[in-house]
Amino acid sequence: MDITFLGTGGSVPTTKRNTVSFALRLGPEVLLFDCGEGTQRQLMASSVSFMRISRIFVTHHHGDHFLGLPGLIQSMNFYGRTAPLEIYGPSDTASLVRDILGLGVFDLKYEVVGHDLLPGDRVVGEGYAVDAIRAKHTVPSLGYVFQEDDRPGRFDPQKATSLGVREGPDFSRLVQGESVKVGDSSVSPSMVMGAPRKGFRLVYSGDTAPCDELRRAAVGADVLVHEATVSSDLKEKAMEFGHSTAKDAAELAMEVGAGTLYLVHISGRYEDPAPLLEEAAGIFSKTVIPNDLDTFVLRPEQKFS
Ligand SMILES: [Zn+2]
Ligand SMILES: [Zn+2]
Repeated sequence: MDITFLGTGGSVPTTKRNTVSFALRLGPEVLLFDCGEGTQRQLMASSVSFMRISRIFVTHHHGDHFLGLPGLIQSMNFYGRTAPLEIYGPSDTASLVRDILGLGVFDLKYEVVGHDLLPGDRVVGEGYAVDAIRAKHTVPSLGYVFQEDDRPGRFDPQKATSLGVREGPDFSRLVQGESVKVGDSSVSPSMVMGAPRKGFRLVYSGDTAPCDELRRAAVGADVLVHEATVSSDLKEKAMEFGHSTAKDAAELAMEVGAGTLYLVHISGRYEDPAPLLEEAAGIFSKTVIPNDLDTFVLRPEQKFS
């Protein structure tokens, strides 16, 4: 499982930062969160296959969060996509998607479906769920909580060997939940698997001023992707436009005990994001300001688990 930041800038693109989007790669499936203008070109420059995107979660209808959709949808069509594409967002997303499908001249050969989500709605995928939460912005805006299903415990190969199981296909059978024969007796998965492991939790703020709903949702986040449009000397401006400062984001990460904080939606006024990083890392040391196209492994693939 990994995350690729495709765009990390806020409001308008700069030569260094494209508008907001990141991809969450879950094995063969890719979830996209927000889709600023030019996201498809960022995808092509990354190792993420855009044809594998199954679902796109848009936080709100400001252009810097969705204007990449028309081009991406048409390029997927050009490359022969047949799998349906689901696009989620706040109220009026279904009609926004219909409008996008009516732009220009092209013959759509796959299904693109827009869905309106309300805060509290849940989208269930294979092995995960994504919950919509209410953000506090100048227009209806959602944050998202990606929650992976809990996973089986870790396989203990030494234990299995000590019980007489031979390394090879029998190891895989045990991991997949089957018992295996050893001589006259059998070894069951419960004898060689540890306690179930909590699934991964990633919380994305979208554009928002600090708010209670996000605070509640962020509890237990392994990763918090939070907007930090400006530094705290511009706090009043941030509040006026429904945004957060780097300090706000770091305080939230600290309060909820997040694993890692990634700051995005960095205003174009910061050619160098060092002031934002300094401000946030002074409060929450595990803060990262990713550059466009940075990929971070969230969990390495493990043999036998
Ligand atoms: Zn924005
Ligand atoms: Zn916005």
